Amino acid sequence: MKKNQPIIEVQNLRVIYNQGESNEVRSLEDINLDIYSHEYIIIYGPSGCGKSTLLYSIAGLQAPTYGEVTIEDKKISQMSNKDKVALHQVGTGMIFQSFHLIPSLNVIDNVCIPKSFRGEKRKLRNKEGMKLLQRFSISEQFEKFPSQLSGGQKQRVAIARALANDPQVILADEPVGNLDSESSENVMKILKELNETDKKTIILVTHNPDHLHYADRVLHMKDGKIIKEDVNIDKRPKKIIRKEIFIGEEPAVSKELGILMRTFKNLSAQQTGALLVPFKSKQLLHYILSQITNEQLSAAENLLREFLFKNFNTKTLEKKLDADFEKGGANWNKQRAESFTRKARLMFEQAEIVKSNPEIAPVSLMDYLINTFDIKLSDSLRMRFESLLRLRIENKTDRSNLQKKLDDPIFLGGLGFHKSTAEKIAMETEVIMLLGYST
Ligand code: ADP
Ligand code: MG
Repeated sequence: MKKNQPIIEVQNLRVIYNQGESNEVRSLEDINLDIYSHEYIIIYGPSGCGKSTLLYSIAGLQAPTYGEVTIEDKKISQMSNKDKVALHQVGTGMIFQSFHLIPSLNVIDNVCIPKSFRGEKRKLRNKEGMKLLQRFSISEQFEKFPSQLSGGQKQRVAIARALANDPQVILADEPVGNLDSESSENVMKILKELNETDKKTIILVTHNPDHLHYADRVLHMKDGKIIKEDVNIDKRPKKIIRKEIFIGEEPAVSKELGILMRTFKNLSAQQTGALLVPFKSKQLLHYILSQITNEQLSAAENLLREFLFKNFNTKTLEKKLDADFEKGGANWNKQRAESFTRKARLMFEQAEIVKSNPEIAPVSLMDYLINTFDIKLSDSLRMRFESLLRLRIENKTDRSNLQKKLDDPIFLGGLGFHKSTAEKIAMETEVIMLLGYST
């Protein structure tokens, strides 16, 4: 399997219980999802939204009504029985909210069940099993029965059992739902370590928002659908620690301005209100135009400034850019004036939406950028793009981090754009953010 191929693909998956009956339940509706090796995915949503059904479908324990789940290039529906057994015993390890330990078996035998199914000799499997118990600090309990353990201990036994055959993928259904907060944290830390140190792919179901920071990606579910994807931009690479920016005697600038200042080096906290406008004109102009004489440039800059002060509208701007110097114009040609004004209008439109309608801004900006740069994206990557733009719009990240995510390969949570495309999109987004910025 190639590294940049998903380890798990879910295509048009629908699960309908009691189809055609009066008690029909549409548990999953057209789920599409790619999961890459070493990712930590959280499936998040309210009770009854279909999280467990999705997890069991990925595990091959729930048959789809329509659609397909593929694991390591094998379609589950086309697997032989032998392949399916291998998937359950070696390919995936499962952890449940209610542990599902076997009451009549002691701890070490519970842990080694998956090994005994594989026909491993008792002595060897117990030795490996004990190592896992040691790792999770429960080796002293090896002869106890489940009823003699605390909830946290039971879940650690269940995790050891899930790891017995060293599967690549760990599936966890509300694994801390029955635990007190200390045991919960302990189990969440173990899962984090399995992802980061053992490089396991983790898919965890939860309805607890406190856990979301552990994930590379959070898939939000509602009524059987994935309605949103959040990329945890600070998780990989490691969190960037930002210093407060001070200018002279001024207090620290706002976060929003601080982020813009990283790209626009001449932007300062003193440029408020009216003083900000010339700066915007210059940046917009320099961005949209590459080759033009200095005279044409400075005349246009003056016109743009008046436009930004709302002394005239885009139609007039277009006419004046085209007009001769003597007539107060910028001496451009008609075509350039037209295309410049069109582009500026589109960018202002987006800036206005970013400023006044943050709810729809990520989708709007995404559609605009997709159009502008002629990009083709699958539905799931559109969702990822949207979530990255949302982070920038909400000032939770900056241009360079956004650019990196746009450039990063898809399997690292990026969008896999060409380097120069990532650069252009990030810069255009930044100029739009600047146009929408006001003090
Ligand atoms: P979650 O894990 O998010 O709480 P589930 O995946 O367990 O949600 O359930 C999704 C929906 O499917 C719910 O409405 C639930 O009642 C229904 N459901 C789950 N299993 C069955 C089943 N075996 N028969 C009928 N309906 C079911
Ligand atoms: Mg559930």
